[in-house]
Amino acid sequence: MPIAVRASSGHTKEIQIPLEPTKIFPGLDLRTAVELQGAYHVTSPTRLGSILRDGLVPGGMEGKRMMNYFGVFPPWDMRNRSTRTRSPLIGEPFMLIVYVPPVELTRFGAGLSRGGDILVPLTIPPEEIREIWIARNCRSQPDERGIGRWVLTRPYKIFSKQLSNEIVTSSDFKVLAIPGKIATRDQVIDDAVQLINRFPAPPIGDLNDLKSLKEDVEVLKSKGGSLPLEDEIRSRVVMKLAIYHNPTKSGVLGYPNRKCPCCLSESASILALCLECHSEFWSAGRYEKTNPENAAPKSRWNRDKIRSCAREARRRAQEAFDNMPKEEEILIEEEDRNFEEQMKEDEERQKRQERE
Ligand SMILES: [Zn+2]
Repeated sequence: MPIAVRASSGHTKEIQIPLEPTKIFPGLDLRTAVELQGAYHVTSPTRLGSILRDGLVPGGMEGKRMMNYFGVFPPWDMRNRSTRTRSPLIGEPFMLIVYVPPVELTRFGAGLSRGGDILVPLTIPPEEIREIWIARNCRSQPDERGIGRWVLTRPYKIFSKQLSNEIVTSSDFKVLAIPGKIATRDQVIDDAVQLINRFPAPPIGDLNDLKSLKEDVEVLKSKGGSLPLEDEIRSRVVMKLAIYHNPTKSGVLGYPNRKCPCCLSESASILALCLECHSEFWSAGRYEKTNPENAAPKSRWNRDKIRSCAREARRRAQEAFDNMPKEEEILIEEEDRNFEEQMKEDEERQKRQERE
């Protein structure tokens, strides 16, 4: 990404100090960070649970890299030159994209590679994550200059702290969900009976709900066989299970869990999909907030200023990118590769030295 390329003072090859990332690449200073549009880390959807629990651990489960890599454009943006070209996981139908504001990354030792990636040597705790997206992973496609790029399509946001306030009573099983995870007829009946047995007294519990729940359970019991997600009676029962659900354990990042309408397990309320069965949640509206302590926390940053800086940086990046000759682009990619190889060599050298 051109902005980052210019910001780097760039003399990675001359310096031979192994395993001290901030000495190998220039640090990301706050002023540059504010100008960057974003920082997007691409990984496998299988890491979603561990990322929300432990944060972004350098190397992660891939175990190959010593640092977290962030592209400054989202991977579905054609200007993304890094996460896109080295889309790491061939064969995965979906990719996870984790967004952290660049200004926050400066506190975790972030630096800039010559190719314009942000590299972060320290673990980034889950509290710093602002957005998580999921996108379909496609094959390499030539861009307007004929250079092969990995393309991510159909991106949509699956993580937001605002989501914890959404009421979810239905979900979609078609696209992402894991086959075989949908709750059976018996599981739906069991859960409904449990709710009937400990139905909350008015005003929290609505006695009309209790009455219709009892009737629906009798109908469900009178029939056999599979119970499809779109079954009308199932939908009515599951809606009540979701609304009256009391989480049994504390959720991810301290937000309450919700009941998944598909598999009926408890899942993080700050995700738009179920961690257990991967079905997509559909919001049925928002809870009324009555507790003044729930008001949004005050921001430490001037959001308007960051937004206008981001717009300007985006414009300048576009301009620089348009004017960049293809040779230069290939050069940057080669340097990127060399950089990674050198990091690996340095790491191996140090391991050898430790053994000796
Ligand atoms: Zn589920």
